[in-house]
Amino acid sequence: MRKVKKIKIKPIFATVLKYICVVLCILLGIFVFYRNQISQLTKLNYSYEASKRILFSKNKDYVLSVGENKTLNCAFESKDFNNKYLDNYSKINYVDHKHLIKNINKLLKIGYSNSDINIILSHGNDEDVVNFTKRDKVKYLEEFFSIDYAKIKYYDRYVEYSDNTGDTEENVVLMVNLDLDKEDYVDAVEVKDFSTDMLINKHRYLSEDFEPDDLINIDSDYASEKGMKASRVAVNAFIDMSNAASKEGYGLVINSAYRSFKDQQDLIDLYLREYGQSYVDKYVAKAGFSEHQTGLAFDIGSRNSRVFAQSKEFSWMKDNAYKYGFIYRFDKKYENITGFRNEAWHYRYVGKKISKYIYEHNNMPLEEYYVMFLDK
Ligand code: ZN
Repeated sequence: MRKVKKIKIKPIFATVLKYICVVLCILLGIFVFYRNQISQLTKLNYSYEASKRILFSKNKDYVLSVGENKTLNCAFESKDFNNKYLDNYSKINYVDHKHLIKNINKLLKIGYSNSDINIILSHGNDEDVVNFTKRDKVKYLEEFFSIDYAKIKYYDRYVEYSDNTGDTEENVVLMVNLDLDKEDYVDAVEVKDFSTDMLINKHRYLSEDFEPDDLINIDSDYASEKGMKASRVAVNAFIDMSNAASKEGYGLVINSAYRSFKDQQDLIDLYLREYGQSYVDKYVAKAGFSEHQTGLAFDIGSRNSRVFAQSKEFSWMKDNAYKYGFIYRFDKKYENITGFRNEAWHYRYVGKKISKYIYEHNNMPLEEYYVMFLDK
């Protein structure tokens, strides 16, 4: 049997080794403790960065008492974090804004309450809020911003329009959001993309070279003259509607459909010669501002009567057009919103979802639907 050789360690080294072991054990203990603390926070969806800061700023117990909170997480991640606003952060709803924490700090400093700040943050984007922090405290937050689609960037215009008209807050917000506090055609917004829910009126225009998607010829069985065009989706919907009407003994016909920018200009020139400037100003949209350029609008006539508004087809359309995705666009009761006088013959294709909603809501103008649901 071989003799096992014993390793001899000098006493001094043994002592050093012992100390190293103790230190390592302590470090390991601290590490395990630290990992444990961090994981309590990351389990609540705090990021690693935020959790570290929460620990080192001795706010762990507070954060654990609050629980999961996106605004707090964002605050602890932000270089703008201010410990004195800790409780505010936890009570303010999170929004995905680049300067969220900086903006909250500023708004608190101006003197807004947590609920004021929730209102402000939910009615504008980051840029709107940044601009809002540059002004003195405003008076009428709750009045206008109890309405979902009110925008903080329009605050001054709401106040001014309200002072000038004495309208209800709801109406004020609707009118200003549609730029109806401005003159017709002034500062109009260009609409660039074709969609069946697009909104064109005296404040929203199409450029000279805008063309609708999928422009097709309208079969002459459905139109009063040859060569008319419109967007395919609207033409197909009209054909369905017209066939259904005809089965019930009604005769619909398209008198006007797509009109290019130039067509509209030619029409204006013609009316100018025949009826004069004031007629044109009152009744004809400027080129670019006509819905006919979208390829989604039709002027519809009756095959049985010269005056559409008095025809049985007009009555039929009132109750049936929405089933095919069309709306009666320029109702007399909304002239101040649509900007056009009552036109019994003008229908607009918007798709069945929107046409049904509008029909079920007192034939509200497309403008109102747009403000409520489409203007993001
Ligand atoms: Zn028309």
